[in-house]
Amino acid sequence: GSTIGMVGGGQLGRMFAIAAAKLGYRVGVFCGSSDEPAADVATFTVCGPLEDHSAIEIFADRCDVITLEFENIPAETIAACGRHAPTFPDASVLATAQDRLLEKSTLRDAGLPVTPFMPVANAEQACEAAKEFGWPIIVKTQRSGYDGKGQHRLSSADEAEAVDWQGGGDWIAEAMIHFEREVSVVVARRADGKSTTFPVFENDHRNHILDLTTLPANITPETENRAREIAIEATRCLDVVGLLCVEMFIQNIDGEQKIYINEVAPRPHNSGHVTIEACHTSQFEQHVRAICGLPLGNTDLIAPAAGMINLLGDLWGENGAPPNWQAALAVDGVSLHLYGKHAARPGRKMGHMSAVGDSLDDVTERLHRARNALRQ
Ligand code: ATP
Ligand code: MG
Ligand code: MG
Repeated sequence: GSTIGMVGGGQLGRMFAIAAAKLGYRVGVFCGSSDEPAADVATFTVCGPLEDHSAIEIFADRCDVITLEFENIPAETIAACGRHAPTFPDASVLATAQDRLLEKSTLRDAGLPVTPFMPVANAEQACEAAKEFGWPIIVKTQRSGYDGKGQHRLSSADEAEAVDWQGGGDWIAEAMIHFEREVSVVVARRADGKSTTFPVFENDHRNHILDLTTLPANITPETENRAREIAIEATRCLDVVGLLCVEMFIQNIDGEQKIYINEVAPRPHNSGHVTIEACHTSQFEQHVRAICGLPLGNTDLIAPAAGMINLLGDLWGENGAPPNWQAALAVDGVSLHLYGKHAARPGRKMGHMSAVGDSLDDVTERLHRARNALRQ
């Protein structure tokens, strides 16, 4: 059979490998160390640094097609993989997605609605941005931020002065969107351009980290369709093969729902974990299908409502004592996913739980009950 290579050993790579194995593929994982989550479930693992082309080229030589689970891989490393096997997404997608300024400019130039932004380098320029956007503004490092790391919400010139502008490399400032809700759309696209979207996910963040995803999103059918169109257009404009998640803000202006793109991620997305139980085809299986040129699967919801709740390391005791899995598993119809991570740290994503049901109230009640039970 064919071998799929996955660059990256985290939980996204792990759930991808499980989906690929189900379709009969062998999965090789390239990661930093053999105790990463995806290594446990891979057919074989090659460990090495992402900058070392000799290690990754030996890996790539064993693969028929290659993909990745995080976008902060050096674009040259992915280009090196591409010399051995088709690699999706390609190096140019990564170069764009690694840089907020390039990402936002590319999408804006394609006519897509992105959050208003401008590059800034110091407090004075942040104040210029605030003149245009109004306080507060959000400043973000252009590169390598995640889970809200490397970003600040600024409400005044004094707060702008307090930022360590030198410490973060280049920055952008964005208008603060007073959104009604946050949503995301996962698109799968094949090399021949055929694509599908999942239903729009509604996302609740806590401390800048995704906490709860529910679907269907509480938006009008027009907004749902528009969000899916925008996501497909973004995927086409970046020429992504594989998955692209488009994070969006929905703002309510005089009863009209306005959409802004926040950022994109060319890989499976945390909000898409819900699709494992909620949709006919999961985001991970769709990723496999897209990069292997297989027919894309049906993405419809299998029930009227579904949800996913994250399990962070905070749920573990001070002494590393595990949560009460028995109590959570006793909640009817809740699926538990654990990523096999050894060390629990506050804010670290250790697992998630999903539920499907007849109503959003029912689903979210069960998810919260199950998560609360973990602390018993
Ligand atoms: P991740 O990659 O983990 O999703 P990140 O560190 O790249 O996160 P963003 O997605 O840009 O950061 O921002 C994190 C969260 O902060 C958003 O999901 C949103 O809740 C809030 N946020 C970011 N930018 C804005 C903005 N311009 N207006 C309002 N809220 C914002
Ligand atoms: Mg991000
Ligand atoms: Mg984000």
